[in-house]
Amino acid sequence: AKTSGKRTWRRFRPQQRIRVVERHELQARLDRAVSKEQFGVRYQPVVDIARGDVVGFEALVRWPELGSDPVPPGQFIPLAEETGHISALGAWVLRRATADLARLQHRTQGFDPPYLSVNVSARQWRDTSFLDEVCTALDTTGLAAGTLQLELTESVLMRRTEQIDAQIQALKERGVRIAVDDFGTGFSSLRYLRDFPIDVLKIDKSFIDGIPQDPQQVALVEGIVHLADTLGLQVIAEGIEEEPQQELLADIGCRYGQGFLFARPLTLERGEAVLRQRNDG
Ligand code: C2E
Ligand code: CA
Ligand code: CA
Ligand code: CA
Repeated sequence: AKTSGKRTWRRFRPQQRIRVVERHELQARLDRAVSKEQFGVRYQPVVDIARGDVVGFEALVRWPELGSDPVPPGQFIPLAEETGHISALGAWVLRRATADLARLQHRTQGFDPPYLSVNVSARQWRDTSFLDEVCTALDTTGLAAGTLQLELTESVLMRRTEQIDAQIQALKERGVRIAVDDFGTGFSSLRYLRDFPIDVLKIDKSFIDGIPQDPQQVALVEGIVHLADTLGLQVIAEGIEEEPQQELLADIGCRYGQGFLFARPLTLERGEAVLRQRNDG
């Protein structure tokens, strides 16, 4: 196991022990924030590990956008999921991020258009209005469906319903890509990789942390990359912080990655600047 306080951001930590009072307070603030839309979105570049080009951006919500210290999403997202606020918040993120990326793509014509990846929580996948929200966001912003990727976690795949499957099928038919987030941390069977129309696996940071020094982790990551290749899936390594990790991932043929080594979550403007810089020539 790892030491270091670096792990505090991990989501599989049983929801940070916020004291009851603090929780209530946070809850009330979140209520107000949802109605006033006091959120922001940052964009973390996804890069081609060997070439260094930016191929896409993952939208990550921030709250509050301005003013006081930001509350980590690892704290308020689970709260928003419990109360159902995640539906309104998720719809807002989708609208904002599609509008932002459409603008960015427009301003960077001549470059390969970067895609947008949006986190979608289990609760949103269960909402019957979700498909409509996605279609409306695409129609309103003009973002090409082929440049939208939606992320789901293994828990969604474990608790599929006909309604969820139908929404995913419809999205796939429109050309939207589906990615499995935090891959390897859930208790899913490998069967869904075969049965389910997934396009991308995002290997969780906890696996990437152990490479290149831990041979078992290296073997695991290599195994996932080969499995994905065999099944025709793209792979993104999450949380790359150091060069030796990048080198090893390039060696084993893991094509895409995200992490502080390349870039942190950025404002749209900074994201555009990084794209221009990295994709030039
Ligand atoms: P995630 O989807 O796994 O997102 C990756 C998280 O890892 C982000 O944290 C990102 O800032 C962080 N990260 C990226 N590269 C590195 C790295 O090299 N080192 C380290 N230490 N961290 C790295 P963030 O923004 O705090 O988000 C945490 C989680 O909150 C996300 O994990 C996701 O589960 C959730 N989340 C964030 N935005 C949204 C959203 O709009 N909707 C939903 N449903 N969930 C969201
Ligand atoms: Ca995560
Ligand atoms: Ca994600
Ligand atoms: Ca993740």
